[in-house]
Amino acid sequence: MGFESFGRKSFMAATKVAPFVDFLAEGKIKGTVCKDCGAKSFPPRADCVSCFSPNVDWFDMPTKGTLTTFSTLQYAPFGFEADTPYTLGLVDFGQEGLKLFARFATDVDVDALKIGMSVSVRTLAYDDGQLSFEIIPA
Ligand SMILES: [Zn+2]
Repeated sequence: MGFESFGRKSFMAATKVAPFVDFLAEGKIKGTVCKDCGAKSFPPRADCVSCFSPNVDWFDMPTKGTLTTFSTLQYAPFGFEADTPYTLGLVDFGQEGLKLFARFATDVDVDALKIGMSVSVRTLAYDDGQLSFEIIPA
């Protein structure tokens, strides 16, 4: 599976981190960890963001964290117009600086969201077969 199957709109198909999409199809959210210095990255990176080593491996992202901030979009960039309104959130997993930026599930009560609340992250398959991940209250 190529990266063209990731998210609502993908702009490229070939990347060294394309297995990320295969993991999503298996219900797994993975980041990359550097085999040389141990730095972890999410979204996954082809090369280490700390020491620039190309020797990276996959690790399972945590699935539970804290909501750092969120915002509901009424207007969206090109390619996402039909999806509005949607709510984006930033999840802090409280370990090794790992954070995740994603949409909330469409059935989440936005009025009940509060900064600091516990949230979970899960994989998502859209009706058109695109794969991603989303945030839900824990
Ligand atoms: Zn490194």
